[in-house]
Amino acid sequence: MSQHPSKPVIEVRQVLKTFAGKREVKALEAVDLAIGAHEFVSILGPSGCGKSTLLRIVAGLTPYQGGEVSVNGRAVMGPSPEIGVVFQSSNMLPWLTVRENMALGARLRKLPESVWAPKLEQLMGMLGLKGFEQHHPHQLSGGMRQRAAIGQILALDPQILLMDEPFGALDALTRDRLNVELLRIWQEQRQTVLLVTHSIAEAVFLSDRVLVMSGRPGRVVKEITIDLPRPRRPESIKENPRYGEYIAELSSLM
Ligand code: ADP
Ligand code: MG
Repeated sequence: MSQHPSKPVIEVRQVLKTFAGKREVKALEAVDLAIGAHEFVSILGPSGCGKSTLLRIVAGLTPYQGGEVSVNGRAVMGPSPEIGVVFQSSNMLPWLTVRENMALGARLRKLPESVWAPKLEQLMGMLGLKGFEQHHPHQLSGGMRQRAAIGQILALDPQILLMDEPFGALDALTRDRLNVELLRIWQEQRQTVLLVTHSIAEAVFLSDRVLVMSGRPGRVVKEITIDLPRPRRPESIKENPRYGEYIAELSSLM
């Protein structure tokens, strides 16, 4: 593992995870990772290698049997307000409007409207949802629903953003567009991001570092630092020969 200049925001050490049941499943073994403040890190790896399990453990949504997981230097004991999580399929409430859905988390946390309302306004614009505030989820395209789901989490202003294949269900063109938006938002707000994706190109485009997981039980088998200039623009990055080299290197590992 490479050295990090600052103390890691997310630290996972020798984590072990077993699912009990009729047939015990060892999902993770000796997983290590350390993510620094404002870093954008992606995780790639074949289906079943434990990516989602790892993300859920960091989010405090799943218990684990061995090792240590800490966020901001404190052991993770359950969900915490500094972490926002986005899953593959958005779970918006169908009877609420887009705006009501996006405000839901902030309302449940009893944040004052004077704090979240301007933020929501800004996010609506950034995510291309202006004019759709009063629509209901079923009136939106899949891409817009997913953007709204991301907005719902970003409205809470989490310091850490965990995303599990957030664009996995969308077509390639929509994905590309959302990735550019995601990068723009990240470049402005600088959350610490951990993204699980199955797209190598997406991981290289977005990340400071890419971790590759593999095996059953899964572990981190490779780590590549992406040394491409920021801010990244799709045109300039895709023309950069390093971009293609990273994709080739990662493809050979998968
Ligand atoms: P990935 O996200 O990389 O596809 P997962 O983290 O979903 O992998 O799964 C890792 C392993 O743990 C798989 O073998 C999967 O079947 C198992 N697993 C995941 N969730 C559960 C669960 N709730 N109960 C039992 N086994 C599970
Ligand atoms: Mg998964």
